[in-house]
Amino acid sequence: MGKNNRNSGNQNNSSNNGSQRRLALAVLLVLMLSFFWFMVTDNPAVKGLRDRYFMEQSAEEQDGSGSEEAGNSTGSSSDGASERAGNSEDVPDLDSSALPEYNGDHYVTVNGNTPDFPDDVYSRAGLVSDGGTWKTEGSKAGKIESGKLNPYEYYGELDGLGRCTVAYGCLGEETMPAEGTERGDISRIHPSGWAKAQNWERCHLIAWALSDENANERNLVTGTHYLNHDGMRPLEEEVEHYIWNTGNHVLYMSRPLFSGNELIPRGVQMTVWSCEDQGKGMSFNVYCFNVTPGAEINYVNGVVTTEEQAQQEPRLYVVNKRSGVFHYPTCEGAQSIYKKNRMEVTATRKELTDQGYVPCGYCEP
Ligand SMILES: [Zn+2]
Repeated sequence: MGKNNRNSGNQNNSSNNGSQRRLALAVLLVLMLSFFWFMVTDNPAVKGLRDRYFMEQSAEEQDGSGSEEAGNSTGSSSDGASERAGNSEDVPDLDSSALPEYNGDHYVTVNGNTPDFPDDVYSRAGLVSDGGTWKTEGSKAGKIESGKLNPYEYYGELDGLGRCTVAYGCLGEETMPAEGTERGDISRIHPSGWAKAQNWERCHLIAWALSDENANERNLVTGTHYLNHDGMRPLEEEVEHYIWNTGNHVLYMSRPLFSGNELIPRGVQMTVWSCEDQGKGMSFNVYCFNVTPGAEINYVNGVVTTEEQAQQEPRLYVVNKRSGVFHYPTCEGAQSIYKKNRMEVTATRKELTDQGYVPCGYCEP
């Protein structure tokens, strides 16, 4: 049979061989590209896997002589699997008095990229601790059952300065907006430190796509495009895809970190852990920077100064002494200032912002 088939028509035969070879080459190429992506990606879930893989490798190779990786590992000793090696960007514990300095990455990992939620986050979801693992109440050891989980969302009260505190929950298809739902307007919410003129974005602690929670003042912070769009969104989209693909749930915590009494967070910590598979599908703990690379940010009044603006020559501005806003002389806003509040100054933009004056949102000096 086989022989007959093989000999039936040379034309067919060679073109079959050709397309098989091309297919094999394509598969090989895809495998190579995937492997390359796995080795270099910044994606925290993959990074965690990768680190764990190399940890285990190095643990096997190591026979008492101490591996090279060991010197880099963070702090306390452990049995290996949960500890990540060689991540110099890791923050062991986030403390608002010593937040990490922006290092050129969108985020750094926290606590070895291992989620560390307050007990409340677990218990509200219906999870009970079971000797190092978690299970749903009434389930067998180490078993988390979808049907016994309690999907929920919690948004912490604003603090005394009107700042968001924390948002967390057990998220799944139940907490997501129904298909076809349109996202509403959020422009009426002015998160702490909001400054209209400066291209700030209203940044959800828990994304609308995950929570169906939109114009909630306890869920919106003042964030840069870099934080909102480049830092947090890719991570949120991953969680969203994970939930759609598996039907599973994730524990999710998002918390803004402020330095002192500042009104705009320096960054947002995002912690995610997938429930039904005990974190095998999704597990990360990162701190995303609320910065704009190259710009100086005043985290109290929201004034952003680009490098170019910082180097501007002195020029004439009109200051409203009462509101503290400054304008170009040609601005309508400058022309309508009462005489007694009006002050003309020749200065650099930086000199004015350093004194606490805020650029007008209309003429954008
Ligand atoms: Zn103006």
